Amino acid sequence: MVVVMQAGASEEQIQRVIDRLVSLGFDVHRSTGVKHTVLGAVGVHPEFDPRDIELLDGVREVVRITQPYKLASRAFRPEGTVVELGKNVQVGGTDVVVMAGPCAVESADQIRRIAEQVARLGAKVLRGGAFKPRTSPYTFQGLGEKGLAMLREAADRNGQLVVSEVMDPSQISMMLPYVDLFQVGARNMQNYHLLRALGTVTRPVLLKRGMSATIEELLLSAEYIMAGGNYDVILCERGIRTFENYTRNTLDIAAIPVIKKLSHLPIIADPSHGTGRRDKVAPMARAAVAAGADGLLIEVHHEPERALSDGAQSLYVEQFAQLMAELRIIAPAVGRRIA
Ligand code: PEP
Ligand code: MN
Repeated sequence: MVVVMQAGASEEQIQRVIDRLVSLGFDVHRSTGVKHTVLGAVGVHPEFDPRDIELLDGVREVVRITQPYKLASRAFRPEGTVVELGKNVQVGGTDVVVMAGPCAVESADQIRRIAEQVARLGAKVLRGGAFKPRTSPYTFQGLGEKGLAMLREAADRNGQLVVSEVMDPSQISMMLPYVDLFQVGARNMQNYHLLRALGTVTRPVLLKRGMSATIEELLLSAEYIMAGGNYDVILCERGIRTFENYTRNTLDIAAIPVIKKLSHLPIIADPSHGTGRRDKVAPMARAAVAAGADGLLIEVHHEPERALSDGAQSLYVEQFAQLMAELRIIAPAVGRRIA
């Protein structure tokens, strides 16, 4: 249930509603918007009568939400959420934020070269995995903490922020000094221990859609993080598994406008994993921006044929440059801007 307070409701009135909800057994999450304070009441209390709250002073309306997620629902923050990654980088505002870099950090030299090039072309966030969830245990698994240090150093040289994947709750505190955005990979979207642990940190989370997850399941996974108090969640459409096997996955572009309607959380697209083929990345990146994506996550490598993972879907730097130029034309057509 969501309680929308009147514009100008006093702090005392808001507090009285919170106290009442708590006494009725609800878990209360508060969102202070520009005009209205909205209270998300989480919990199942079938005997509850909404009029008990509707009649309290300062309450504008009580909205019963039938979706199983509450904090992630659009009603909780009708104006939308802007996640601040760093001083000048906000996801969910006017800017479309581009995050680019290799699939994995492979060496200090590799990540430095790529960081410099993608930063020059406008990528505000440097990506690179240090813990790689590989399908086979015999393939490159990532450089771990050493890789994170290389990633941080390369990003700092170019004034970039860092996104990298966390695979286990035990890695969170070690990773804090290195990352600005924790990535939860598709394979971990329903790792509830990990989601709960990320709910307790004050660092934004990029939550990727599982390869066989519905949109509702994705939003429920976001709810796990938010229920712990961390509301800085960015969703990512990265392709789902369908009967089509020409592409590695099927990038569900429709998920972008659907999620925009159902949720207030920003949503970005990953056309690299979404297609698995370098030649299909740019068209899908352009489509995602046209469809309203708040950002992109793109794999770029200075020598894709030598990449230790996902070389076939990594753009050459020249291709990334061309794509950025195209996006700078498309974004304004849909009221956005490339940061
Ligand atoms: C990645 O971003 O490199 C990655 C492993 O993505 P996903 O979890 O979407 O497969
Ligand atoms: Mn990859």
